[in-house]
Amino acid sequence: MKYQHLFVHFEHDDGNPANVSFEMLGEARRLMDDFNRKYSLNEKVIAIILGHNTKPLCEKAIHAGADAVIFADHPELRYPKIMLDTKVICSIVRDRKTVAKAVEVSEDYEKPRYMFFGADAIGRHLSSTVLAELESGLASDVNKLVVDDVIITHEHKTKGKPEKYEKISFMYRPDFSGFLWTQILCLDNKNPEIASEFSPQACSIIPGVFQPVIDKSRKGNIVEYEPTFAGKDLRIRITKREIIKSEVPLEDYNVVVAFGRGIKDAPESNIKLIEQFAKVLNAEVAISLPLSKQPYPVSQSIKSTYFIPARVVGTSGKKIKPKLYVAIGISGAAQHIIGMKESEFVVSINPDPDAPIKDESDVYIQGRMEDVLPALIDSVKKLKGGK
Ligand SMILES: Cc1cc2nc3c(=O)[nH]c(=O)nc-3n(C[C@H](O)[C@H](O)[C@H](O)COP(=O)(O)OP(=O)(O)OC[C@H]3O[C@@H](n4cnc5c(N)ncnc54)[C@H](O)[C@@H]3O)c2cc1C
Repeated sequence: MKYQHLFVHFEHDDGNPANVSFEMLGEARRLMDDFNRKYSLNEKVIAIILGHNTKPLCEKAIHAGADAVIFADHPELRYPKIMLDTKVICSIVRDRKTVAKAVEVSEDYEKPRYMFFGADAIGRHLSSTVLAELESGLASDVNKLVVDDVIITHEHKTKGKPEKYEKISFMYRPDFSGFLWTQILCLDNKNPEIASEFSPQACSIIPGVFQPVIDKSRKGNIVEYEPTFAGKDLRIRITKREIIKSEVPLEDYNVVVAFGRGIKDAPESNIKLIEQFAKVLNAEVAISLPLSKQPYPVSQSIKSTYFIPARVVGTSGKKIKPKLYVAIGISGAAQHIIGMKESEFVVSINPDPDAPIKDESDVYIQGRMEDVLPALIDSVKKLKGGK
């Protein structure tokens, strides 16, 4: 078998594991246990860890579900450097000898069958460069995975003939504001005129979706890979590293009022209403991702205050857990929900009773913000004694 095993890129920040690493390993374990039962095989979950002095992470990866870990320890790998990390990851997964030290591999092993990366700032970038280098495809921002066989008839891929594809990873992602699930399949070209194989079947996984499963009694092989670098690999040198504190500390607030594209009918005056509402609640203001792309013509001061990435909640922004989260004119796409689902109490205002945000809400107010907010502002003011 040329393609075997599921490789998971274990992400960490200078030795502090990212939660998504454990979540991916939990899902990898479940997927490969099902896979091995279904196909009577014995393929493994292998974590790849790059870094410096990160050996202690290897055991954690095993406890979280990996059968084996291949790690590379080098001062140059201490912080993420996309091109360098791409080179090391690709060298590891293509090196049969190294993989064979970790798990059993077939004689004709060439590349992984499946690969996982975290769908965060690092994993999204790294997954694309690794998969380009491995000459295969990538599904980004996945939040459900199923492995199955499928018969496909396609004008180009199969030259119009029905062809059976086996052990295909159905990689699901939410699209169109979470109203539609898209299934992404990474399929070989079986059309003889353009025949080619695409492996690994790889994806980046939305943080916060899957459950980690920690079992400290688990044991596994830990294998060191010694990377070699040529001069041109070391063109980027990190001389100083500073974590910049967010200009909008959403995570410090008990109450967060968030707005989305529902402001569209009167952006400027709706934002003024939202500002007043946030003020009476002593809340900070957040936005959905599309607002950070400055979609509406508003004054420069509103634009620079509100339409900024630092206010985005979701997979591309912040994950917060305030006591109260008010979602105004937000549909509730999966990528947004990930950022606010741990809020203690959620209120949403939306005229569409089918908007997914309704299911995430403790209180759903069906209506337009233009009508609902003035009444709410009045009520809160009265409750606070007219102040
Ligand atoms: C890779 C990727 C990452 C992403 N990351 C994020 C992320 O981190 N955060 C994020 O938010 N999104 C993210 N998205 C985008 C996400 O998929 C949705 O497109 C986005 O969240 C939708 O924003 P919205 O709810 O403001 O807009 P819409 O989906 O357009 O919803 C607007 C809502 O407003 C309601 N509405 C209309 N008029 C009114 C009114 N007068 N009063 C009240 N409500 C009204 C509508 O009924 C509708 O439900 C990401 C997408 C991708 C592909």
